[in-house]
Amino acid sequence: MTESTTLDTSKEFLNQVIAATPDGERIRKCLQCGACSGACPFSYVMEFPPHGMIAALRAGMLDDLLGTDTSWMCVSCYACTQVCPAKIPVTAGLTTRVKEEMLLAGNVPSELQDALEKAQRYNNPLGESPRKRAEWASGLEPEVAIMAKAKRPVDVLWFVGDYASYHTRVMPSTRALAKILNALDVDFGILGPEEVSDGDSVRLAGETGLFEMLAEKNAKAFEKYEFNEIITTDPHAFNAIKNEYPNLEISYPVRHYTQFLAERLDQLEKLMKNSIEATVVFHDPCYLGRVNEIYEEPRQLLQAIPGVELMEMSHNRENSLCCGGGGGGMWLDGFQWEKAEVRISEWRVREAISAVGRENGKDTEESRARILAIACPYEAPRFDDATKTVPGAEGLLVKDIAELLAESMGIEG
Ligand code: SF4
Ligand code: SF4
Repeated sequence: MTESTTLDTSKEFLNQVIAATPDGERIRKCLQCGACSGACPFSYVMEFPPHGMIAALRAGMLDDLLGTDTSWMCVSCYACTQVCPAKIPVTAGLTTRVKEEMLLAGNVPSELQDALEKAQRYNNPLGESPRKRAEWASGLEPEVAIMAKAKRPVDVLWFVGDYASYHTRVMPSTRALAKILNALDVDFGILGPEEVSDGDSVRLAGETGLFEMLAEKNAKAFEKYEFNEIITTDPHAFNAIKNEYPNLEISYPVRHYTQFLAERLDQLEKLMKNSIEATVVFHDPCYLGRVNEIYEEPRQLLQAIPGVELMEMSHNRENSLCCGGGGGGMWLDGFQWEKAEVRISEWRVREAISAVGRENGKDTEESRARILAIACPYEAPRFDDATKTVPGAEGLLVKDIAELLAESMGIEG
């Protein structure tokens, strides 16, 4: 290809990104200050970190940009977007669009390809049977209402999500949340087998078409039933329904479960009888915190639990550090390890133990538990694994806020 052709194709691609992204015009204002790449957890292994992507396109190097696989190290954490002084939509526009183009070019790690194929075939990236989507609720009393069977309107439609429905490590917190909703007399139902993946992570991994197909399937299920609002277990589902589905003319009021429960703190406080003597840190999920600016509600819930002393990790709120699972990262563990030989979840667990104290260390009281609290179903398996490899983290417990509330209410298990 001649030099002028590569310049033209790069320019055309950049123009497409600009046209397709809200505030896309800002990309032209990039100062090349490098703040985005400085904030990026994996920029040091990317051939084109975020500022380098823009520079490459300006220089007519689209082919080079699409030819490297290192851009798959982007976990769509929004840290670059957060710090950009020119307010450039780096994650929503540039990195996601580059991934989409890499997918089209067939430059995709096999483990991600596998998850995307499963999402296409089974409507969830875990490849689980849609028939088993409500199995997590079996044996719960009162029975969790599945909308198709219940055949009645409900106040709250609970969008349970993929990992909360299927992952054995996450199911206890899903059951805990069901029990909390019952204890609060919330009139709720779930879609069960009619619910499919929210699609946010496949979207962030560049699979826009698949995202739209999944969103349409969920929309068809939403349309069949009467409810006043949706709550989600997963910040990604919350983000998709709140910010992305409306672009497809699918609009419903939606809240993350921590928002919904924080509004009922008075009721919850009366039910929390058991003290949990623990030093706790909270990991802000990127798509709850940085992307949707929900920082206080999870902390209000934790602070309301008797015995809990809430501390902050060095990265917190808008400056939080990703767990490594976003943007397709959930399905790129092997790839990330191959490139970086470290997991971001391990950095996060190191931060957690430096805030709450080390195992058997002189700097922690033996009688107090040390807990890394979470509010996203991606995080439990990731952080659990990290506690097994980070020295001093052996006794660090990883618990969803729903599990901690249920424990204090005496309804866990
Ligand atoms: S932080 Fe913003 S202005 Fe600075 S290099 Fe990155 S994208 Fe460009
Ligand atoms: S979204 Fe996160 S991982 Fe991706 S380029 Fe930006 S800072 Fe890096």
